Amino acid sequence: MQDIISGFLRFQQEVFPERKELFKTLASGQTPKALFISCSDSRMVPELVTQREPGELFVIRNAGNIVPSFGPEPGGVSATVEYAVSALQVSDIVICGHSDCGAMKAVATCACLDHMPAVKHWLHYADAARMINESRNHPTEPERIDGMVRENVIAQLNNLRTHPSVAVALAQGRVTLHGWVYDIESGSIDALDAASGKFVPLAQHPATKV
Ligand code: ZN
Repeated sequence: MQDIISGFLRFQQEVFPERKELFKTLASGQTPKALFISCSDSRMVPELVTQREPGELFVIRNAGNIVPSFGPEPGGVSATVEYAVSALQVSDIVICGHSDCGAMKAVATCACLDHMPAVKHWLHYADAARMINESRNHPTEPERIDGMVRENVIAQLNNLRTHPSVAVALAQGRVTLHGWVYDIESGSIDALDAASGKFVPLAQHPATKV
């Protein structure tokens, strides 16, 4: 914990003064252009990977970058999506999975999660992806896990579309969806190409969207 407090002191004494103007502007409001939904995993840092400054990304992070489909009892993720789309009017929504995802590994390998009932319940939002992934032939376990990460991004994009705010924004053509998978070791990102239904390297296909 001491590292974290030391980091804050360094921020306050060194970083903050250098960016004083930025923080002064941000003090009275935000106009992020994108909602970025990713895993809570400590190795996937949205602002670092996309080189965004404070105020530029509206972020949701949870175990498995999951977006529950809209229902009669909307929770925190639903409220945050709605606020981003309806109030902040973001123009893009990115759902970003990542390699070596513990949540997706647990789903793909049917790990017993009885000792973590909340995680077990939460990961049921990935059931559609799990069943699609199980129907596919994966020669190795790493491939099965990688397939799960990708199917989960697709499934969560589908869930996202069930949110009324997103559905309206899509119908009005004022929001674009993106499905990404970040590879921790290489620092590369694969993006879902709607036309082919396949993931392609974002670096070579920067215009890829859903
Ligand atoms: Zn993860």
